[in-house]
Amino acid sequence: MFETILGAFFPDSCLGCGERGSLLCAECLRSLPQASSAEFSWITSLYAYQDSRVRSLIKKIKFKNTRHGVEVFAEALAWAVTEYVGEEAMLIGKRTICLVPIPLSKKRAKMRGYNQSELLARGMLKYLDRDRFCVDTKLLVKEVETTAQADIKRKSERLMNLGGCFRATRVSRGECIFLIDDVTTTGATLRAARSELRAARFNHIHAFTIAH
Ligand SMILES: [Zn+2]
Repeated sequence: MFETILGAFFPDSCLGCGERGSLLCAECLRSLPQASSAEFSWITSLYAYQDSRVRSLIKKIKFKNTRHGVEVFAEALAWAVTEYVGEEAMLIGKRTICLVPIPLSKKRAKMRGYNQSELLARGMLKYLDRDRFCVDTKLLVKEVETTAQADIKRKSERLMNLGGCFRATRVSRGECIFLIDDVTTTGATLRAARSELRAARFNHIHAFTIAH
């Protein structure tokens, strides 16, 4: 509410060119550099995290309570999902597709007050066929508090940090799972989530992130 009132007096301006009206204008959004192809074929990322506009907006979303910032990326990410579903039509068939946001630990969720990946998944759903797609925030839970990935410099430590931290709350009913996260760097978080889901017999898992 407070944010809405504030927004009326200080409307968003584009992080790229300063134009009033949105956090990233359509033109700047179109000009964002694409992410380099991910290390893993089952991860699709849209934009290069090195780009300062991408980085600033994601940081605003995560750390500055700029929740509506996810709207900037939700449509583009939904398009990437639609394209992927078209390409993999043979494998996916008529199965239900669950968007599964990477969960935060209880402590972090409480501190932040929201999970940016969940907001993103819900934003994406507006552009997807609701008879086929759903957002499932209960399937995957984060069990233990880990040090924020960004605070760990070494890749091997990042991987260790996440070992076994997610838990699937049920086994597969035949759905496809699309993991949703804001950023992937080494892929460690997504790999940890994926291996837990595979153990719960989910056999089609793909991940979509804003940036890499
Ligand atoms: Zn702009």
